[in-house]
Amino acid sequence: MALLVLKFGGTSVADLERIRNAALHVKREVEAGHACAVVVSAMAGQTNQLVGWVEEAWGYEERQQNGEDASAHYDGREYDAVVSSGEQVTSGLLAIVLQAMGVKARSWQGWQIPLRTDSAHRAARIIGIDVEELKGRLNGGEVAVVAGFQGIAPENRISTLGRGGSDTSAVALGAALQAERCDIYTDVDGVYTTDPKIVPRAHRLDRISYEEMLEMASLGAKVLQTRSVELAMQRGVRVLVRSSFDHPGYGGQPPEHGVEGLGTLVCHEDEIVEQNVVSGIAYARDEAKVTLLKIADKPGVAAQVFGPLASANINVDMIVQNVSEDGYTDLTFTVQGSDLDRALEVLRKAQDRIGYFDLRGSTDIAKVSAIGVGMRSHAGVAAQMFSALAEKGINIEAISTSEIKISVLIDAAYAELAVRTLHSLFGLDSRERP
Ligand code: ADP
Ligand code: ASP
Ligand code: MG
Repeated sequence: MALLVLKFGGTSVADLERIRNAALHVKREVEAGHACAVVVSAMAGQTNQLVGWVEEAWGYEERQQNGEDASAHYDGREYDAVVSSGEQVTSGLLAIVLQAMGVKARSWQGWQIPLRTDSAHRAARIIGIDVEELKGRLNGGEVAVVAGFQGIAPENRISTLGRGGSDTSAVALGAALQAERCDIYTDVDGVYTTDPKIVPRAHRLDRISYEEMLEMASLGAKVLQTRSVELAMQRGVRVLVRSSFDHPGYGGQPPEHGVEGLGTLVCHEDEIVEQNVVSGIAYARDEAKVTLLKIADKPGVAAQVFGPLASANINVDMIVQNVSEDGYTDLTFTVQGSDLDRALEVLRKAQDRIGYFDLRGSTDIAKVSAIGVGMRSHAGVAAQMFSALAEKGINIEAISTSEIKISVLIDAAYAELAVRTLHSLFGLDSRERP
């Protein structure tokens, strides 16, 4: 008997009919003889609504308009108390629906397991899961329906794991229970070469390496939360991304028949036989660009700019520096869109020390990235990418690279064109391969 973790995202539990459909997937696995721990998200849209209520209760917008320090946030512990409630509802409902189908089941809140986290409310990290009792119940044939996204912080307060965090709950539970596999049921039937909502000619990958999935997720493909991929890679959890909208009877074959064709398996690189140079294209629109014009070009300037930003806990991503002949430097870099106002504020305060002429911020930008472990052994991918974008008249404002990815910063208006152009360039359209 194998132990499986099944995770259902928001659209897969959006209403009672979908919850019944999810329950049929669980029932199929139970009938195949598997022990099942099921992790659920809140109903689609529910978490956004809860976050909206928290912000309204705090008068967040008015405070911002009044120029109050945006970092003086509302109480993260209360935010977590509110936003974790969506998963409490769906875990209870799925347990009831399973019981109604004659499947033994009970719901578990994060604190009941307990799934312990640190105290970084709103984006807490999991520090441990006590699975003894859960394991006993699973072995006794009871399905555990676990509320995703939530845990318990050291001070005995409810915590949440950051948006999209149920993926991480599922993988962490998979690691703690040493599950055979962690199945992520969502509204697409796997990981595609790029977001299928943007490029209809995107195709599903049978397998993707942890490293590539990590880059895809952190560069904007929200199909899996970045932390969940990090954790799966560290702990060797096999993750299968699959559709909850497939007929629940479909794909019920036991694991010895393999999982090929059911979705995308996220696994170690050496388990992938056929490897493309570029496996996927990701894009993100949630970054903002900051430009400092005419800084005196002298040693220590970069430290004076990035030091105060780091102290304010603002992460900087791409950086470009242009030195002109008149002895001045222009510095452009990106931060998370939600940090832009704070970043500008910090830099304004530091203007005298840095000595720049003008400061600009903009959110009309997009980051488009090509990802593939094959880049390690292939030269010239960047050059190909830059000339294809140039041919379409797309201007590159910044570049960053790693061993297995190249990212460019461009005008947001060209994001979709750039994604489609690169998708074709690297032979990813429909089923053609380079
Ligand atoms: P869930 O609610 O199940 O957690 P999400 O909305 O978080 O689902 O993630 C699934 C969505 O991710 C898909 O609907 C798709 O639009 C988007 N997505 C972005 N990039 C990709 C990709 N490369 N492959 C598959 N889906 C992607
Ligand atoms: N419900 C949470 C969110 O919307 C967690 C999740 O869906 O993974 O972010
Ligand atoms: Mg998600």
